Amino acid sequence: MSDSVARPYLPTLETEVQFLKGVGPRWLPQLNKLGIRTVGDLLHHYPRRYEDRRDLPPMSRLTEGIYATVRGELTQVRARPTRGGKVMLNATLEDATGQVNLMWFNQPWMRRQLENYSGEIIAYGMVKESKYGWEIANPEIEMIEDDEDVADFARIVPVYPLTEGLAQRTIRRAVRTALDLVLEQIEDPLPAEFRRANQLDGLILSLRHIHLPPDDPARDRARRRLVFDEFFYLQVGLQLRRQAAQRELGIAFPISKLAGSTVEPASLFAGASTLPEGGTLWDEVHAMLPFELTGAQRRVIHEIWRDMERPAPMNRLVQGDVGSGKTAVAACALLAAVRCGWQGALMAPTEILAEQHYINLHRLFDPLGIPVVLLVGKLNAAQRRAARQRTASGEARIAVGTHALVQEGVEFAKLGLAVVDEQHRFGVMQRAALRMKGALSDVLVMTATPIPRTLAMTQYGDLDLSIIDELPPGRRPIKTHWKQPGDRDTVYAGVRKLIVEGRQAYFVCPMIADSERLQTQAAQDLHYRLSEQEFSDRRVGLLHGQLKPAEKESVMDQFRRQELDILVSTVVIEVGVDVPNATVMVIEDAHRFGLAQLHQLRGRVGRGAHQSFCILIGEAKSEETRQRLQIMTQTNDGFVIAEKDFRLRGPGELAGTRQSGMADLLIADLTHDGLILEEAREAAITLLEVDPEMTQPEHHLIMGRVLAVRANFAMATIS
Ligand code: ADP
Ligand code: MG
Repeated sequence: MSDSVARPYLPTLETEVQFLKGVGPRWLPQLNKLGIRTVGDLLHHYPRRYEDRRDLPPMSRLTEGIYATVRGELTQVRARPTRGGKVMLNATLEDATGQVNLMWFNQPWMRRQLENYSGEIIAYGMVKESKYGWEIANPEIEMIEDDEDVADFARIVPVYPLTEGLAQRTIRRAVRTALDLVLEQIEDPLPAEFRRANQLDGLILSLRHIHLPPDDPARDRARRRLVFDEFFYLQVGLQLRRQAAQRELGIAFPISKLAGSTVEPASLFAGASTLPEGGTLWDEVHAMLPFELTGAQRRVIHEIWRDMERPAPMNRLVQGDVGSGKTAVAACALLAAVRCGWQGALMAPTEILAEQHYINLHRLFDPLGIPVVLLVGKLNAAQRRAARQRTASGEARIAVGTHALVQEGVEFAKLGLAVVDEQHRFGVMQRAALRMKGALSDVLVMTATPIPRTLAMTQYGDLDLSIIDELPPGRRPIKTHWKQPGDRDTVYAGVRKLIVEGRQAYFVCPMIADSERLQTQAAQDLHYRLSEQEFSDRRVGLLHGQLKPAEKESVMDQFRRQELDILVSTVVIEVGVDVPNATVMVIEDAHRFGLAQLHQLRGRVGRGAHQSFCILIGEAKSEETRQRLQIMTQTNDGFVIAEKDFRLRGPGELAGTRQSGMADLLIADLTHDGLILEEAREAAITLLEVDPEMTQPEHHLIMGRVLAVRANFAMATIS
């Protein structure tokens, strides 16, 4: 490696790219635009795809509808205006067996290039048959000008992401020069033994093969290594963070002591209620809940209690599809905290939801003598003062609220457990603020947004994950139908029939941009239409974001008490509302909603023993919309839907993941590389078992990568 002769003119990985032979300042702006600043960056500018030019098809052997690469002589270039006022550019490419017509619209740059060129060309694109013969519209092309490029012909050729004004040839040469001059300077952060254990090629070989693969298997191995790297350093960072969190000293709730009948719960508070004689915490849970817990709920409660017993602060994410019974799980966690002498808090994203939790928890805890308070923005000054005072004194053992809980002036006597419902509505900051109300309280985050496993592992890899993967018994799967707007009458007739049977219905009106005012308008219109026309003989209520909190509450109450047959609403009911007698949900303009949102909305029905229905009214204006609506009619499984959503839209679009830094993945693809991700995570865990502090010298380079990567990713842990 070391060279005794000084070679100051040789570039290093850190040399600015413009000083690389053959690059120069001319291409600098374009390269910078692609994120390439140093010669080393070129090595990580991975090909977008490859062209196998070992065996190019002669033109006589082309077939309709395939992507093909053809090579031939440029024989004719014509430009003519079209009726639409554009310029159509045609070029004819010929080989010994036939010809292909290449076409572009409005590409003056291409026109100038072609008109000044004569010689051979390589073109790539979708082959179509027209009445003039083979045709490729908007092909990618390359001109074969000099000897150097001949190296590119009989091989698998990399095709790089480009930016305007930069030719494939230019970047290909630059990468090849970089490979020749600096590749060997790279030090592989992964020790040989580690690579063997994980079946990974060396980094130098992998970088060479990702750019210039001798064959497909070599390329696949190279890709595996580079994808692994991208996940691995991130996972080591996440695991280190978890470890650090676990070393912190939080509260060790003495839960198993509660299991025995003789031990009094430790308590700060005079007159704190004690466990029933001879009862265990589980017995108390069974007595408290009006139903039997599902197996999944029991397992998750176990996981939570076990965390709570440990001195390290709990950081657990509970994922459960809508209707899986997260509230009961939260109640059990809160009960344990209270029985151990601490206070609990439950934070919900909306007032309606906070109120509903309050009603539920009050109903469960009141008979046990555990006082619950509600803290929401709409309280008047006196009510707020009273609620705050009860929280601060410790008299209230559980506080339920919105973000009002984390506002200044709210004090807890002894907050031990913070539960955050519907996590994706809150920022990390709000969760952190809630934790800070207690000294290193345990934090439990509950989300109904099913996050694909791969995403959860990158985004929440530092939270422990519990999944409620079972619905309460006796639920009948919701039947979902997709109807065209013209079928409204049939839909209304169906709804009427259910109402006559004593059920209730939701009508959700369209999403209109982000304007709350327009949304409200749409809800008012729909409400007017239904209450004055189709359902003028029925009780139709209206709920939208611009109502005062007290008005919202009273409408919800009426609906809960079955004083309304129909509730017309904007998406404010999206989250967590629970009225088991409501068995039909009609979603207007369903094509305007995303999959995750449709699933959330649908989750408002199917909560009781009666058969429930979800009717999507909408038109499919695109293939993607059609697929979206179709998926809804095919499955009720939130995880399946999340995976499909993920595939249809890509990870960046999922709720709450926009700032996750996913865009920084250069080569890994979360939708397809899940297996490598799991391997990388396992490898990270194993590594930290061997070297928990990452202090062994052979791991220094790994740690360097971890720190570099960490800077790019938003982490979910609250610390
Ligand atoms: P989510 O997970 O969507 O928050 P909830 O906690 O609101 O679900 O529960 C949905 C409904 O299911 C509620 O009416 C609740 O009382 C009921 N429920 C929860 N767990 C069970 C169970 N184990 N058996 C029967 N019903 C249950
Ligand atoms: Mg809920």
